[in-house]
Amino acid sequence: VAELADLLKVPANDIIKRLFLLGTPLTMTQSMSDDLIELVADDLHRDVKIMTKEEENSFSFYDDPKDLKPRPPVVTVMGHVDHGKTSLLDAIRHTGVAEGEAGGITQAIGASQVKINGRVITFIDTPGHETFTAMRARGAKVTDIVILIVAADDGVMPQTIESINHAKAANVPIIVAVNKIDKPGADPTRVRQELTEYGIIPEEWGGENIFCDISAKKHLGIDNLLESVLLEADVLELKANPDTFASGFVLEAKLDRGRGSVATVLVNRGTLHVGDAVVAGTSYGHVRAMLNPKGQNVKEARPSDPVEILGLASVPMAGDEFRVFTDDRDARELAESRALKARIEEQNKVKHVTLENLFATMEDQEVKELNLIIKADVQGSIEALVDSLNKMDQSEVRINVIHSAVGAITETDVILADASNAIIIGFGVRPEAKARAAAERDGVEIRTYSVIYKAIEDIDAARIGMLKPTE
Ligand code: GDP
Repeated sequence: VAELADLLKVPANDIIKRLFLLGTPLTMTQSMSDDLIELVADDLHRDVKIMTKEEENSFSFYDDPKDLKPRPPVVTVMGHVDHGKTSLLDAIRHTGVAEGEAGGITQAIGASQVKINGRVITFIDTPGHETFTAMRARGAKVTDIVILIVAADDGVMPQTIESINHAKAANVPIIVAVNKIDKPGADPTRVRQELTEYGIIPEEWGGENIFCDISAKKHLGIDNLLESVLLEADVLELKANPDTFASGFVLEAKLDRGRGSVATVLVNRGTLHVGDAVVAGTSYGHVRAMLNPKGQNVKEARPSDPVEILGLASVPMAGDEFRVFTDDRDARELAESRALKARIEEQNKVKHVTLENLFATMEDQEVKELNLIIKADVQGSIEALVDSLNKMDQSEVRINVIHSAVGAITETDVILADASNAIIIGFGVRPEAKARAAAERDGVEIRTYSVIYKAIEDIDAARIGMLKPTE
C-alpha cells in the first residue's frame, strides 16, 4: 500500500480510504493484489500497467518527453601519450577552486565534475581509447563529447588518429584541445592543417569541429575549452528523466579489502539513492553508501553524476549496465538469470563477420556493409589497397575502411574491430601475440596478405559469396 502511494504520489491514507470503501480494509504495510491496484488507480483516475517479470526485465526505458530535464554533458579526453591528457584533467579539476584549496584536491574515483558558469560537466577518466571502445562494444554509452588533445609541438601522432577513429565509430562529436601552446616550438596552425586530413576541420575553416588552444600546464585557455564543451552540449540537447528509478553503467569496479565490492557508476537516467536495490551485470545488492568524485558521502546521484557505490555482493565489470529494482528478490533473480545467460553465451559465442560468412550474413540485413581495418608495413600499401577498394563495385556491399595505419596489428585494433564488427586486413604485417589472443577470444577475423591483388581478390569474392575456404 505504501509503495503504491509512493509510486502514484498520493497520500497513503487516500489509498487506505479507497480500499476501505471497496470493502477490503488494508494497512500501510500490507500487499495489494494486481486487481486491487488497478481498481484503486482507476478510482484515482490514474493509468497503471501491471508488468509480468519478463516484461519488467525487458522494460524499455521509455520516458515521456515532458519528463525529460537537461542533464550535464559527459566528456572523455583522448589523445596520444604525453600530449597532456593527465595534465588537462588535473587543470580542469582545479578550475573554480581557490588557490589555497587546490593542494587538498584528491580525486577519489575515476571521474570528476566541474562547475563553470553555474553548469556542471562530468569528466570520465579512461586510461585510453581501448577502454572507451571496449565499453561501447558492451553497449555502454558513457560519453557525449570527446576532447581530442593534441600537443602543438608534436602534432598528429598514431594514437591521435586512433582516437579520432574510435570517436567517429561511436558517433561522438570531437572538440580539439591544441595543448602546450606555451612551448617555443608550438604550431597550432599545423595541428589544424594535419587534422583536416582526418576529416577534423575547424569551424573557422568551415568545418564542424571546435578547436581550443590551451596550455594544461600553465592553465591557459581551460575556461574557454570548458565553455566550448557547454556550447557543444547545448547543440546536443542532452536530457534525461531524473524522476524515475536509476539506471546507467559501471565505469570501473574492484574488490577493496576493507570496503568489499566498490563500483564507480555513471547514472544516465533516474536518481540513485542510498538503500536502493541494484543489479549491475551479474551482481546485485543494496547501495550501502555512495561517494561523489570528491570522496564525500552523498545520499543521491542524478543523471550524468558519477558515484562510487558500496554494497554490491560481487564485483561487476566495466561497461555493465546497472539498474534499480523496487523488489530485492527481483534484483537477485535477474542477476542470477544473467549469470546463467552469460555462461550459456560464453558457450555459443556470437561470431563476427568474416570474409567467408560475409555473403550469408549480409543476405538478411538491410544495409550491406563491410567494415575493414587495414594495417600495413608502409603507407603506400594502404593507399594502393584503399584505391583498389574504391574502384570495386560497391553497389551490393558498401566497403568502409574505419581505420588504417602503418604498424603491426595490435590489441586495440581488435577491440575496435570487435566493437564495429569489422575484419582486420594485415598487409606485410602480423598480429602481435596479444592481438591474436584477443581476436581468438572475440571472434574477430584477421587476414594477412603479402600481395595486394590477393587481398582484393578475396574481398571481391566474399562480396558476391564466391570465396573459397582457406585450407
Ligand atoms: P598524458 O600522457 O597525455 O597523460 O600526458 P601528461 O599530462 O602526463 O603530460 C606529458 C608531459 O607533458 C608532462 O611532462 C607534462 O608536464 C607536459 N605537459 C602537459 N601539458 C603541457 C603544457 O601545456 N605545456 C607544457 N610545456 N608541457 C605540458
